[in-house]
Amino acid sequence: MTIASARRVENAVTRHLIDAGDHYIGPVKAGQTIRIVDVDGNEAADTLFFNAHDPAERYSCMDTLREQGQVYLTTGSELRSNLNNVMLTIPADTVGRHDTLGGACASESNTVRYDLEKRHMHSCRDNWMLAIANHPEYGIDKRDIAHNINFFMNVPVTADGELYFDDGISGSGKYVEMVAAMDVVVLISNCPQLNNPCSGFNPTPLEVLVWD
Ligand SMILES: [Zn+2]
Repeated sequence: MTIASARRVENAVTRHLIDAGDHYIGPVKAGQTIRIVDVDGNEAADTLFFNAHDPAERYSCMDTLREQGQVYLTTGSELRSNLNNVMLTIPADTVGRHDTLGGACASESNTVRYDLEKRHMHSCRDNWMLAIANHPEYGIDKRDIAHNINFFMNVPVTADGELYFDDGISGSGKYVEMVAAMDVVVLISNCPQLNNPCSGFNPTPLEVLVWD
C-alpha cells in the first residue's frame, strides 16, 4: 500500500546521490530513517542490510516473507534478519510493491541468461564486492553477501507460481522509507543491468537520505 512520508528533504542529516551503475555503503543508526529515491524512475536498488555490530546477522528474505505471509515488500513490512530479529520497518512507500525474490545480477547469471559475451559487463555483485573491499571498516566479508531486496524492481509472481522480470512500476521521484530498529549498515548496488528491463535498459541515479 502506498503511503507518502511527512519528512522534509531539507531536514535530512545526510544526502547521497548514487550515480547510474554505482554503489553505496553506509551506516544507519537505530531510530534513524533512511529513504531511497528512484530519481529518474524505473531503476532497481539491489540492497543488503547488516547488523552494524555483527555482519553475520543480515537481512533474510526467507524470515521476512515467512513472518509477513506476503511475497512483496511495502508499507507495514518488517525487514527481518537471519536470526529473525526486526532490522527495519517500512512506514512510507510511494511505489507500493518491491521484490525480494529475484536476486541480484552477477557475471555468472548474465552469462547463463543472456550470452557468453556478457561475462565482463558490470553487475550488482561486482558493485557489492567493490564496496566491501573499499570499506573494510564495516567488517563485511564475501561470505556475508546473501539474498537481497530489489527496491523499485518489478518481479511479478503469477498465479502459477512463476516469476519474471517485468517493466517497472516505479517512476521518477518515487521512494521507499525505512526506520532502523537496530544499528545497521546498508549496502546498495544501483543496478547497471542492460540485458533486461529492471533498469529500463537505461540505468539512472538513486538518492539516499537519512534523518535523525
Ligand atoms: Zn543488477
